[in-house]
Amino acid sequence: MRYTESAVRIVDELQRYHRQILLPDIGESGQRRLLQSHALIVGGGALGTMIADALARAGVGTLSIVDRDTVELTNLQRQVLYDEDDVAQMIPKAEAAKNKLARINSQVVVHGHVDDFSARNAERYVEGVDVILDGLDNFETRYLLNDVAVKHGLPYVYGGAVGTTGMSFLVLPHPQCRAETGRSLVRWSAAQSTPCLRCVFPEAPPPGASPTCDTAGVLGAAVAIIAAHQCAQAIKLLTGNLDKVDRSLLSIDVWLNQQRTLDISGARDSDDCPCCVRGDWAYLQGRAGGAVTTLCGRDAVQITPGPDGSQPKRLDLAAMAAKLSPHGSFTQNAYLMHGRFSNERSANGEPVELTLFPDGRAIIKGTDDLGTARSIYAKYIGA
Ligand SMILES: [Zn+2]
Repeated sequence: MRYTESAVRIVDELQRYHRQILLPDIGESGQRRLLQSHALIVGGGALGTMIADALARAGVGTLSIVDRDTVELTNLQRQVLYDEDDVAQMIPKAEAAKNKLARINSQVVVHGHVDDFSARNAERYVEGVDVILDGLDNFETRYLLNDVAVKHGLPYVYGGAVGTTGMSFLVLPHPQCRAETGRSLVRWSAAQSTPCLRCVFPEAPPPGASPTCDTAGVLGAAVAIIAAHQCAQAIKLLTGNLDKVDRSLLSIDVWLNQQRTLDISGARDSDDCPCCVRGDWAYLQGRAGGAVTTLCGRDAVQITPGPDGSQPKRLDLAAMAAKLSPHGSFTQNAYLMHGRFSNERSANGEPVELTLFPDGRAIIKGTDDLGTARSIYAKYIGA
């Protein structure tokens, strides 16, 4: 419905946020700030959809969502913006999210980018953004996100969930290393800055060492708590309530009823962080992280884990084969593990094949698309 009378339109615009405006720290001015804000959500999985749903309802005026995958049946257990029609029509997640959000709040502008977030496009996606929210499933892309956030002086809300556990904390990059003039409407002083992701987690876990949602499972309720914490942080930042943000690391296990808040304020002082102390954005410049290359003529992609940090421990191939057994048929010998996925198909409908070596190198056969291969690696092997 469109009103011609602008005064009526303004009242109408804010009416839907009435219960949020009642909160003393938000009020009408806070709500107007939210409506002028732009949040970038990287990853349109469980975290990303819960975050996008909450921020669209809260009236964050512009949302950008980057995700390269299409909606699958196994996503529906927790990825709140998708439905069975999206699965049947194989709609890309970024597109499906955009369509659903438009029906939830037509005041909000949503940009859905069907793309693989990478060093090639990261700086383009943060242009004009006020806050970045992490909906990712792998550490390598998170380090890239951390690099671009620190370089551009943008608040970055880290979140991760797997199994029944989750973690979240806020990165307010230190101005020392900011190469670009931060254009975020969120302003903070050097004293209010926080350690970055690499201060807190200097190195990614070695390939295969950490569980992924596709191998260990994930409870939607665990994701929901983390997504809610990320959204609360973003809303506090965007409404100018910097004194209210949580500066510690939240760690939860909803199954074991454990909740911890860890003081991470000293993480930067004690560490010569390559990212936020030395300003060496190795992930953004493509010098760190794994190499992903197409094997020409073989319809296959090779993924080599990054040289960053210590050499990965040698993978236990038998344990990997057992871990992947629900997803296909996998066997190993002393040199490699090999098998076919039952649920990953190539363009011509053949099962995608995986060959995995003890150093974490993988050959994924059945695709020549680097993003598809990276996504399969992140889902089943994890890094
Ligand atoms: Zn740092």
